[in-house]
Amino acid sequence: MSTAPTTEITLRSDLIVGLVDHMGDDRSVIRAMLVSSDKDDGVDDMSPSAVQGRVNALMSNKHGTPFEHNAFTFYVEAPIFVFREWHRHRIGVSFNEMSGRYSVLPTQFYVPGRDRPIVPVEGSKQMDYATEHGSEEQWRILRQAHAAAYSEAAIEYQRMLDVGILKEVARNVLPVATYSKMYFTANARSLMAFLSLRTNHPEATFPSKPQWEIARCADQIEAMFADLFPATHSSYVEYGRVAP
Ligand SMILES: Cc1cc2nc3c(=O)[nH]c(=O)nc-3n(C[C@H](O)[C@H](O)[C@H](O)COP(=O)(O)OP(=O)(O)OC[C@H]3O[C@@H](n4cnc5c(N)ncnc54)[C@H](O)[C@@H]3O)c2cc1C
Repeated sequence: MSTAPTTEITLRSDLIVGLVDHMGDDRSVIRAMLVSSDKDDGVDDMSPSAVQGRVNALMSNKHGTPFEHNAFTFYVEAPIFVFREWHRHRIGVSFNEMSGRYSVLPTQFYVPGRDRPIVPVEGSKQMDYATEHGSEEQWRILRQAHAAAYSEAAIEYQRMLDVGILKEVARNVLPVATYSKMYFTANARSLMAFLSLRTNHPEATFPSKPQWEIARCADQIEAMFADLFPATHSSYVEYGRVAP
């Protein structure tokens, strides 16, 4: 008796962002600013409030280039649809991502966790982005639908690999919810541009409505940025979450 083929799949809801490396700090921003008046020598002796004052002056005047002499590299694990949004950021950033052409992609797929809103607030319009958590029945259907579609995709992916079809062709059947991994490098200026669009803060000068998943990644990045560049981050928030 023949049995239906199975391929193990993993359902995940986590969105992993880790700091791999970084260079520079608030004082390197001020150093880059003060070289123009040949006063970059004394930055180490400046008080924290003097550093904050200088950073605020740069931020409020949208004098952005001093924020470029630093770097942050993050390791990210997230579904491919998150990376598609992320890769739209072109300026002052670098990416390297796992290749489905050279690697067999792990059959790990994203399924929204219970903290992720899944239905529109009744009576709201699409551009209101007013969403809420669904009923038990909606959650049950959501999980079943995701698991069924992913299982089918994983089986067909493996079936093609087993008969020698190229990885770059077999991957066609995998969904954009397949997990991928990448390294993302940015400087403070490009990071602030990314955060201004990919975090959700109604009090911002130009509030953005990013999709929930990339916003959760951006929140993690913002916390690390605030830790490493406290004066720059606090100034970014004070001046309306706009990149200088
Ligand atoms: C909530 C939200 C919804 C979105 N919806 C869609 C959508 O439906 N469809 C879609 O296609 N995209 C969508 N996007 C992606 C969006 O259009 C941008 O591609 C993305 O946010 C990157 O922004 P950016 O171009 O400012 O970033 P970067 O590419 O990093 O550019 C940074 C800045 O450099 C300058 N710049 C970069 N390239 C040029 C250029 N060629 N010419 C002139 N100036 C340039 C601009 O000042 C730009 O702001 C959405 C983004 C968000 C946040």
